[in-house]
Amino acid sequence: MKFQTLAALCALVATVHAHSDDGVFGRRHAQLAQKRQASSSSSTSTSSSSASIASSTATGAVNNAATAASTTAAAVLPSGVPATGANGVPPLSQITSGMPTGAELAATTTYAAGTTPTAVSGAPPLPSTFVFNANNWPSPDVPPPTDSTQVQEWMKELDGVTIPDIAPTKDGECATDPTAAANAQQNGWWTCGGWTRDTDITVCPDKFTWGVSFDDGPSVKTQELLTFLEQKDITATFFVVGSRCVERPNLLIEEYMAGHEISVHTWSHRPLTSQTTEEIVAELGWTREIIKTLTGVTPVTMRPPYGDIDDRVRAISLAMGLTPIIWTRFNGFAFDTNDWQVAAGNVNGIQQMTTFENILGNATNMDTGFVVLQHDLFEITVDLAVGYTIPAALSHNPPFTLKAIGQCNSFPISNMYLETNTQKAFPYPQNVVRNSTSSTSSSSNGTSSTSGSNAGAAQKGSAVSSRNFGAILPSVAVSAAVAFFGALLL
Ligand SMILES: [Zn+2]
Repeated sequence: MKFQTLAALCALVATVHAHSDDGVFGRRHAQLAQKRQASSSSSTSTSSSSASIASSTATGAVNNAATAASTTAAAVLPSGVPATGANGVPPLSQITSGMPTGAELAATTTYAAGTTPTAVSGAPPLPSTFVFNANNWPSPDVPPPTDSTQVQEWMKELDGVTIPDIAPTKDGECATDPTAAANAQQNGWWTCGGWTRDTDITVCPDKFTWGVSFDDGPSVKTQELLTFLEQKDITATFFVVGSRCVERPNLLIEEYMAGHEISVHTWSHRPLTSQTTEEIVAELGWTREIIKTLTGVTPVTMRPPYGDIDDRVRAISLAMGLTPIIWTRFNGFAFDTNDWQVAAGNVNGIQQMTTFENILGNATNMDTGFVVLQHDLFEITVDLAVGYTIPAALSHNPPFTLKAIGQCNSFPISNMYLETNTQKAFPYPQNVVRNSTSSTSSSSNGTSSTSGSNAGAAQKGSAVSSRNFGAILPSVAVSAAVAFFGALLL
């Protein structure tokens, strides 16, 4: 059964990624599938057809994944969860891997070249209409080559910046790389213990404020999500994959023109800590490039796939003018809706909403607001957002205020792009992170927590320190997540 759903998911992803091949990510996926198969008593059919299951998730989901895995098939809805989704979304009980899916939705609004954006003050007119030429862009969903003239030019942005001498991790997961894991705190490795730096944006400062984000698109149902957000007058931050932007340029432009924040989420969705410095520059650079080509502006923020960042990745990102944004952890609990777990066939919609209820519960205990991880890669994940999670947040008592992440941190949207940014300190000075490797403020045993105290913008530019967002995740939990579908998330 598990592999039936896995195969269904792969088929879905294959339709999403028309150009997918069996690159590095496909091998990663295959390895994970094998691990999962080994732990399962049933099923023989596996699929590693998608090179770009790239998408979703996150290792930050580890704790949530464990929670979800331990949840038996709930028969009742969590309190406060609408029984029937809005906007034609199926009942929650029917949202599960393998559910019928509809046709892909194209952008409903197209903008002529030269149109002046109204949502971003001072933004340049839209560039010429995009015409895809495969010769001008890297192959989709595989790490771009590093010997191109473009990458070599972008490497110059690192000149004068000290990049910490941290070896690439094996695969971005501490369970499989004990050497790297032993230095996780020192190196500020988020994926392996939740270590952050003050240059990371991880929360919204104001209590009961939800920083809304969607990762891995633009995709098949992004348009449905955009329509919903417009109806609710909500702006979100879209962490886009370069390979998806090439496929669906008009959706990316529509997101931007509607006033949503656009941020870099790499070209091929590999764990960045596992890549060389040149590979990281290529991943970030090409995604930045396609966004600039389509919109005329350059994002000043990024989100590492799976939340996989350490001080080397931070230094590279900041040197390229990209401030990291992750999602909130509080007392070891990652604010991951686990929508990807439903798409992966690991949990059903009701179980996912039970996990989501935990997010709302943790949120009420925090002094600050929070940033939540969701995805617009799959129809299932869009259904959950449009029909359930966001409506539940809007009807919560006390109510949550939903904003894009820059907005909730009081950054004008114009400051989210290089060409229109008027705040000199944002992105941060390039030398901030290189001084950060000698962190001192976190607990030695990883069990005490300053969770929720990272007030985002309020701490910009302050002395860099590491913060432990709750207990260090036990390796068994990480293994469980890997056996799950680690490659799928974030
Ligand atoms: Zn992602």
